[in-house]
Amino acid sequence: MADQQYDVVVIGAGPAGYVAAIRCAQLGLNTACVDQWRDGSGRASLGGTCLNVGCIPSKALLESSHYFHHIKHQAKEHGIAVEGASIDVPAMQKRKRKVVQGLTQGIEGLFKKNNVKRFVGRGSLAGTGRVAVRPVNDGDDDEQIQAKHIIIATGSVPLTLSAAPIDQQRIVDSTGALEFEEAPGRLGVIGAGVIGLELGTVWNRVGSRVIILEALDDFLPAVDQEIAQEALKSLKRQGLDIRLGAKVIDTGRASSGVTVSYEQGAVQERLEIDKLIVAIGRKPNTEGLNAEAAGLKMDQRGFIEVDEQCRTSLGGVYAIGDVVRGPMLAHKGSEEGIAVAERIAGQSGHVNYEAIPWVIYTWPEIAWVGKNEQQLKQAGVDYRAGVFPFLASGRARGMGESTGRVKILGDSKSDRILGVHIFGPQASELIAEAVTAMEFDASTEDLARTVHAHPTLSEAIHEAALAADGRAIHI
Ligand code: FAD
Ligand code: AMP
Repeated sequence: MADQQYDVVVIGAGPAGYVAAIRCAQLGLNTACVDQWRDGSGRASLGGTCLNVGCIPSKALLESSHYFHHIKHQAKEHGIAVEGASIDVPAMQKRKRKVVQGLTQGIEGLFKKNNVKRFVGRGSLAGTGRVAVRPVNDGDDDEQIQAKHIIIATGSVPLTLSAAPIDQQRIVDSTGALEFEEAPGRLGVIGAGVIGLELGTVWNRVGSRVIILEALDDFLPAVDQEIAQEALKSLKRQGLDIRLGAKVIDTGRASSGVTVSYEQGAVQERLEIDKLIVAIGRKPNTEGLNAEAAGLKMDQRGFIEVDEQCRTSLGGVYAIGDVVRGPMLAHKGSEEGIAVAERIAGQSGHVNYEAIPWVIYTWPEIAWVGKNEQQLKQAGVDYRAGVFPFLASGRARGMGESTGRVKILGDSKSDRILGVHIFGPQASELIAEAVTAMEFDASTEDLARTVHAHPTLSEAIHEAALAADGRAIHI
């Protein structure tokens, strides 16, 4: 059979790959997308990590557990009496699966609508302008596809720790931690990063006693430390037992659970828990891609090397998303996918890496964009800070959600916004205003002179901008 020919073949259908494929097709390029993902029931499923075992299922569980926690602990202050509230974890999981399935099937629909040809199987580089697809049934022959352009979007997989081998029963990775059918009594989490905090939060809210072990002495070192310290206090108040400077060195089996040994300073400690989540980060995934044989250059940590425009060392081959440098975030990969598609189509796609929002979906949420105070200090930048606490926000008080603050950092001379940091209710939504402002090179004065609806949480951004100039009204 003659090889099939396409303008573009995308390998991987996570948020980087599927978005790239759709944008290519929109631009009139004849496009195919190869993906190997199988869900728990063996069904091929588009959307990669993000839709199947990442952003979406974690947020579905965070939402359900938030409602439960709210009903149990906060409804009373609103005068609502709920007796005997309980959580049906299998029902919560069923809802999560439905959310995931609806969205992954939605991508199938988008592929059909945009005429993206879908291949189910493992794609590998098979010579210049060629991709081989190993079908689902191993006995079948590889399909050969020819492509003028190849976009690699093979994503990432969880990092493992030899001291805590994953069995997906007692010791699980993030995927296993999204599947518990009952809240473990005592739950250990290795790693107080984004994923560890989000998963710890879910199970803490539905009744687990959660102990998070973090090797570093600092809490969330990438986050503005004023924000991080306030978040740490708040999370501890919620019952998360976060132990910093605690390096896990060994695990073993206990009668019905797991033992964990860790070093904290000179002291060696031992814990006995029911389940353990390993959430120590993720690594780029190039398994089965035939990358080395194809001559694709990778860096020491296994990321595919790319330039600013996501071009790899091989002509006509691009790489985007978690498999290349930069933050491992779904929206970063999607934007790279759009930019690459536009470059292939002769346009000038662009990603502004200086204005990528980050969110940690604890409650309150932590969100930021741009530089934090420790980075500005280290770089010797002269800046001024405007801070506004949610305690002084009428809307936040009405909601009963007055923990947290907004901090805006502006350049002392030009007043250009350099970073915005939020710990507070719906920070994930609020940060969008800051991202837009930075994208337009706004000054704190621009935000200070922008009319914000009252009463809204966004007024806290307005007030923080006013505070940068020492003229906040409500504090
Ligand atoms: P992936 O989503 O990993 O997709 C890669 C796809 O390529 C997969 O389907 C894979 O099977 C396929 N593939 C790999 N190799 C081949 C091959 N050779 N042939 C064919 N197919 C192949 N990010 C956020 O921005 N917000 C969040 O709230 C968030 N929450 C998260 C929560 C959890 C628990 C986890 C684990 C991650 C979370 N992330 C979040 C990170 C986010 O999921 C990733 O940044 C994102 O999925 C990366 O997208 P990608 O397209 O680069 O790769
Ligand atoms: P992230 O990179 O945001 O996913 O966070 C992962 C966290 O896991 C980092 O803060 C690491 O310091 C932490 N970590 C890595 N290895 C260990 C270990 N052996 N014990 C405790 N924490 C660890």
